[in-house]
Amino acid sequence: MQIFFPKEEDQEIRTTILPEVAKKFVDLGLEVVIEEGLGSSVFIEDDLYSEVGAIISDSRDTAFNSADIVCRINKPYKEEIANLKKKSIHISFLDPFNESDLVKEFANQEVSAISMELVPRITRAQKMDALSSQANLAGYAAVVEASRTINKSFPMMMTAAGTISPSRVFVIGVGVAGLQAIATAKRLGARVEAFDTRPVVEEQVKSLGAKFVKIDIGETEETDQGYAKELTEEQIKMQQEGMKKICSQSDVVITTAQVFGRPAPRIVTNEMVQAMQPGSVIVDMAVSTGGNVEGSKADEYVFENGVTIIGMSNLPGEVAKDASQVYGANLFNMIEEYWDLENKVLNFDLTDDVLKGCVITHEGKVVNELVKDRM
Ligand code: NAD
Repeated sequence: MQIFFPKEEDQEIRTTILPEVAKKFVDLGLEVVIEEGLGSSVFIEDDLYSEVGAIISDSRDTAFNSADIVCRINKPYKEEIANLKKKSIHISFLDPFNESDLVKEFANQEVSAISMELVPRITRAQKMDALSSQANLAGYAAVVEASRTINKSFPMMMTAAGTISPSRVFVIGVGVAGLQAIATAKRLGARVEAFDTRPVVEEQVKSLGAKFVKIDIGETEETDQGYAKELTEEQIKMQQEGMKKICSQSDVVITTAQVFGRPAPRIVTNEMVQAMQPGSVIVDMAVSTGGNVEGSKADEYVFENGVTIIGMSNLPGEVAKDASQVYGANLFNMIEEYWDLENKVLNFDLTDDVLKGCVITHEGKVVNELVKDRM
């Protein structure tokens, strides 16, 4: 069986696998093909992949056409799907709720598409959970970027010239990224507060030494996988009202709020931005899914009344080597889980809970119920 790792587009700084992971695939008995220059964005030469037994291909189209499994980070172009071998498997982030055309194309081409976003949040699948591996690094990178941009220090400093007060950091949304943002800001010595609509996270926030902000927004719900459900308009207003003062007193606001399969909630209004101190910084980590902050723009620094709103859409790319390492490990763990060592094939059992969650198309049909509903 052949597995192909195409090179990502130029704007992507991460790479799908590092040579250590390529070796693990070779050891499983797969024929590993990588596109020439695969690791160049993280300064890894092709030689290091060939040393572990990978074949270097200079023809992307030929490799697409002969591979049984294609693994990449970002979704493909529609034209690339037509080039894939029938009955092959394609694994990547796919944004399947917004990319109906791609999903249909995968089905037409009889390719089994796996969406890394839809790997279920269950214990058995943690090792394959690329949303978490990337969000964790993104949370770290968001705080580092904020600390670099702000014009004051994060920690308190007692100096001969007087005491410097610590920065105040407010984290909105405490999932995987939010927890890492809190932990990183605490390590840097900031005073950290956090809020989430799911009251269960209060304990987690406190265990990191941060303060949980309580805002009464009435009943909130979460899905069986722990995702927050959408708030009503009235609840969002109550939340904004409750946060106004904290935002205005914060030097850094980091927003990570997401609602599964829906656009991100708009939480920080322009009025709240205007009320912040000049020199303060907001990082909108939800910028790619609609944004939590009014006025944020993908891949831009927006300056609003002295406040910098950072909208970096690829924060894991700021720590590209580590992000590539863990993404590749997620892919390997997924394939190894279903690999039949004796017959050297993948057991594609759609009754398996993990595959049932993340396989979108199979044998010419859209098989994922959530995606089917949305289409
Ligand atoms: P996410 O990216 O979907 O959302 C980020 C956070 O935003 C969530 O904590 C959510 O509650 C919060 N949020 C939504 N609307 C908000 C609002 N209006 N204001 C403030 N916060 C708001 O979350 P995630 O990081 O992907 O995690 C989702 C869930 O999955 C969490 O419960 C997490 O603990 C769980 N999880 C479980 C596993 C596992 O294997 N068991 C692995 C990873 C994550």
